[in-house]
Amino acid sequence: MFSFDGICPHCGSEKGFNAFGVSAYVISDRDYEQFPLTPTEQRIQEAREGVNLPVMRTLKDQQLIFTLAGECRRCHMPVLATCIALGKDFLEICQCISKARRATYCEPRIIAFHPAPVPPYAHPSLPEDVRHAFIDLQSMLREKKMPHFILTGCRAVLEAAVRHLGGGKDGDALYARIADLFDKGIITASLKDWASVVRRYGNAAAHEMKGSPEEAREMVDFTRVFLQFTFELPSTIEKIRSRAE
Ligand SMILES: [Zn+2]
Repeated sequence: MFSFDGICPHCGSEKGFNAFGVSAYVISDRDYEQFPLTPTEQRIQEAREGVNLPVMRTLKDQQLIFTLAGECRRCHMPVLATCIALGKDFLEICQCISKARRATYCEPRIIAFHPAPVPPYAHPSLPEDVRHAFIDLQSMLREKKMPHFILTGCRAVLEAAVRHLGGGKDGDALYARIADLFDKGIITASLKDWASVVRRYGNAAAHEMKGSPEEAREMVDFTRVFLQFTFELPSTIEKIRSRAE
């Protein structure tokens, strides 16, 4: 068996992939700094000097590009990973894939995943606590974790964001604090109206551990749009304005 690391583009898991197939290879330009000539190659090179013939290299010392087909260890969906490795590692990997029991420590350098994983929304303008928590929530959604955790997590992220924005006062319900942001002209009426999703899902999730995957997705979507509008958009406008001055 051969497995390789990476973030699953389907479920966001970091458990890695079990390879079930490998493509034909192409010989890539060798990176001589990373893979210098072996002593044998050096001798051949020296013997040929003046004869002007290319260096003969065995396949195992060539740098190859190939594609691995793998299955996510969590959601079992397939991915393709384009890799670079020395020929000897490639041969070792091929043997491991065809024989269930063999193991190897070879780690090819992965240069691309297909489909490519979508990075989480994490704009640098977000306050640090909000950004970190929201990255985790987006992974939880991709990994299909219990919806009520995601719903209560989004509430916590929104509460922190509203605090940073100065909406309402401590002790107010979250929806009232969001409404206060509208009164202060920080958010639009449509965003305030949409914030009723917070009220709809909030209590059932927090007190009764209830919530569906659709509700979790809607709450994550709302939280992302809320953060884009209240942090990212003003910071982008500020940047454009300072460039114009
Ligand atoms: Zn997966």
